[in-house]
Amino acid sequence: MEPKKVTIKSLQGILDNLKTASEAAIGTYLYKGLRLQISKYKASGAERFARLYHRRRNQGLCVVCGEKVTHKNPRTGKLYRLCNEHREKIDKKV
Ligand SMILES: [Zn+2]
Repeated sequence: MEPKKVTIKSLQGILDNLKTASEAAIGTYLYKGLRLQISKYKASGAERFARLYHRRRNQGLCVVCGEKVTHKNPRTGKLYRLCNEHREKIDKKV
């Protein structure tokens, strides 16, 4: 995953999350060519997967491949959790 570019100001927010050991601090950040990585020590694969799923879901990205999701579910008015391609492959396979 690409690191997120940060400024000293946004790093301050990340540090605030870090102070409370909040998982919101988790991520890979890029500051002036330096990479900072905050991750959970000894996280299980399932934990990592759950976090990835939720992060993608919250950012409106396909939970499988991370592509931007552009279509909304007409029933809920919310973005689909899958991109068109994966929606074809997974959701429509009934
Ligand atoms: Zn996808």
